[in-house]
Amino acid sequence: MSMSGKTFALLLALLSALSAKGHRPVAFVSRPANSSPVTTPMRELTATTTTTIDADLFGAAKQNATLQNDLNWTFGKKQQRGWSIYVPLISRLIGTEAGTESTDFAAALYRWQRTNNLTPNGILGGETMYRMIQTWQAARLQNRTPARDDQLITVPASEFYDASRPDEQRRIERSTYAAYQRLLAAAATAGAAEGSHLKIISAHRSREYQDNLRRKDPQAGSAGLAINSPHFTGRALDLYVGGDPVDTKDANRSIQVRTRTYLWLVKNAEHFGFRPYPYEPWHWEYMGN
Ligand SMILES: [Zn+2]
Repeated sequence: MSMSGKTFALLLALLSALSAKGHRPVAFVSRPANSSPVTTPMRELTATTTTTIDADLFGAAKQNATLQNDLNWTFGKKQQRGWSIYVPLISRLIGTEAGTESTDFAAALYRWQRTNNLTPNGILGGETMYRMIQTWQAARLQNRTPARDDQLITVPASEFYDASRPDEQRRIERSTYAAYQRLLAAAATAGAAEGSHLKIISAHRSREYQDNLRRKDPQAGSAGLAINSPHFTGRALDLYVGGDPVDTKDANRSIQVRTRTYLWLVKNAEHFGFRPYPYEPWHWEYMGN
């Protein structure tokens, strides 16, 4: 099918409109380390936008292979090593399924860095990691006003990971529960809710209950049992995604982030109004639709 002159003119107008918004037309430029920049033929990255990549993507991919296990950074006050635990969230954020050691991953990261006014180099170092954490945190519940009694409903024990929980520990904000049921049905259809997976570990917590938990575990830091917890709202759900239900050790979280259930949530929970807390693979918050 040939393109008519009219279609071509429309396409040009569209391209210039996109450029005006900051989507520059694109050349894919990559070069081996230690060589002068060489412009290689253009490569379409997506149907409508491409990006001029002025970075050493081979070198970036090599660095990412190391940094995913070695980058030193902190989450709250907790020392973190590497970012491999966060790969499903990172991949979703930068829009790629490519392996972390590939030039495609580095290219996707480059584009995300540029969009976020970071030095675009395709390397996932500290500055980029902190910006990603900030991005996920900003998308969470900011209003943590405790739920009123009339906003909460008590759900059947069978919905809970621990079916012996008493009534007052099985309460959830009404619209959150409805959204959870929709999510659960979709996950079951996709084979991501086998056995205990996606059962609720914990939902609404009263301030008193949270204070008690903290007294029992004084080691629980700011990233653990928050003083101003989103669980007070009844809109935060801890869902079973595999492994040890709520253990923050890297070894446990590494198992959790590889389960079919977690990977499904990362890709789909947002459609049902849920957003992740990056540090705890089991913790999801209902933002509404
Ligand atoms: Zn939680």
